[in-house]
Amino acid sequence: MKKGKKLYEGKAKIIYASPQKNLLIQHFKDDATAFNNQKKASIEGKGILNNRISEYILSNLNQVGIKNHLVKRINMREQLVKSVEIIPIEFIVRNIAAGSLSSKLGIEEGTVLDRPLVEYCLKNDELGDPMVSREHILNFNWLNVMDLDWITEECKRINDFLQGLFRGVGIRLVDFKVEFGKTSNDEIILADEISPDTCRLWDEKTERKLDKDIFRKDLGSLVEGYQEVARRLNILHEQSNIKPISFPKPKEVKIKKK
Ligand code: UDP
Repeated sequence: MKKGKKLYEGKAKIIYASPQKNLLIQHFKDDATAFNNQKKASIEGKGILNNRISEYILSNLNQVGIKNHLVKRINMREQLVKSVEIIPIEFIVRNIAAGSLSSKLGIEEGTVLDRPLVEYCLKNDELGDPMVSREHILNFNWLNVMDLDWITEECKRINDFLQGLFRGVGIRLVDFKVEFGKTSNDEIILADEISPDTCRLWDEKTERKLDKDIFRKDLGSLVEGYQEVARRLNILHEQSNIKPISFPKPKEVKIKKK
């Protein structure tokens, strides 16, 4: 598919025009950033993995009725998506305390929350994406009450689905961030991406981090972590030139008979 002109370049993705009306091309870069752009690197293979993982998650969400912008993946780094106007709020859903919940509110990392917690942050890099309340969103008309309530419920449905998906492959979904956008018919749909860049994913047994915290906290190879997520979801791309990683042989488990 022929790419049109570059419309927007963000930290990890580029949006191009597409030949089709109301559709855009979303390109996944290898760039990684953290701490509001203070830490930067290019990590070979990250874009390919995020493109594939996000395609898998969004197409599965679509199958359970969570409408989103994905039309189809078109190559290793790109997907065709519906054009939307992004709502300037980041929706964060947490199941286990980590990241800013621990650093700002002092909740010990790893604390399992009684129920999923939805937080709202204003999408504004210059201000460092500050957390805002429901009242801010309504007061400044960033969303009306009906849309805000609907998106909040949609976030919980996405969380239920993702928790189940990851639990099935031995991964705990600690938290994640999602963005929504309005289509030309004023319909609100899930947009952007869902990948290890935007989720915290811990191995259920070892609590090994399989997400962007590997980069944030210098915990080793980020690509190996993301590959592990893709491998467990059974979507590791054979054609990619990312080196396969070796896994230790599982220990033999003797099952005791009663
Ligand atoms: N997150 C994201 N983009 C952002 C901010 C957060 O994808 O601009 C994700 C982050 O990867 C984590 C969740 O949202 O999975 C909660 O992030 P937190 O508020 O703890 O922010 P952090 O301190 O990690 O930036």
